[in-house]
Amino acid sequence: MSELNQQMAEKYKGNFLKEVEDNVEEGEWVKMCMQCGVCSGSCPLGSDWEHPPQELFMMIRANKRDEVLGTDSMWNCTSCYNCIARCPRGVQITHIMHGLAHYAKKLGLTPKNQQTEKFSQLFWDNLTKKGRVNELKLGLSLYFMNGFGEGVKVAMKNQKLGMAMMKAGRMSPMEIAGGHGVKDPSGLQKMLNKAQELEDARIRGEAS
Ligand code: SF4
Ligand code: SF4
Repeated sequence: MSELNQQMAEKYKGNFLKEVEDNVEEGEWVKMCMQCGVCSGSCPLGSDWEHPPQELFMMIRANKRDEVLGTDSMWNCTSCYNCIARCPRGVQITHIMHGLAHYAKKLGLTPKNQQTEKFSQLFWDNLTKKGRVNELKLGLSLYFMNGFGEGVKVAMKNQKLGMAMMKAGRMSPMEIAGGHGVKDPSGLQKMLNKAQELEDARIRGEAS
C-alpha cells in the first residue's frame, strides 16, 4: 500500500463517501444519486464493466473503498455523456468516473497493465514535454506500449492508416526529430511544477 493511500485510508476510515467528496472531481454529487439505474442502462459499455456507474455510487456509499478504487470500471468511460444527459438528478457521472480513475492512480491503486491508464500517461508525457502533442511520437508510443513484438504487429496492421494520415498532412514524419512546441517550454514546465506543488500541499494538508 502506498504511503498516501495509507494516510487517506486512515484519515477517512469508515467514511469513503467523504473521502470521495473531498478528493474526487465532482465527488460531492455522489450523494445525490437515487439509484434509479438510468446511467447504467444508458451507458453503451456499462454492461461489460465489472461495476457500472450506478453500482459504483452505491458501493461508495456502502464504504467499499478497496473494491471501488481497485476496479478498472471507471477507466473504461469514453466520455460519451449519455449518462449525464439522462440522469434525473443531474449527477456529473462522466466527471466522477474520470475523477475516480485519477484518484485511484494518485494512490497507486490502478489495476496492473490497465491500457487506458498507460495511454493517458503516454499522452501526458508527450504533451507536457513541449506543450503540444507530437502525433508521430504519440502514435509510436501507443503501438509499442505493450512491447516491441506487439508494437511491430500493430504498426504493420495500421500502416495504411499511418500513410493516409501523412498524405493528408495529419501527421508529419519530420516530427520524429522533435516536432513543434509552445514558445516558452521552460515557462510551461514551471507552471506545471507549481500546479503539482500546490496539489501535493493540498493532499498533504488534508492527509495530516
Ligand atoms: S442516473 Fe443519476 S440518479 Fe440514476 S443511478 Fe445514475 S447517477 Fe444515480
Ligand atoms: S460518459 Fe462514461 S459512464 Fe457515462 S454513459 Fe458514457 S461511457 Fe458510460
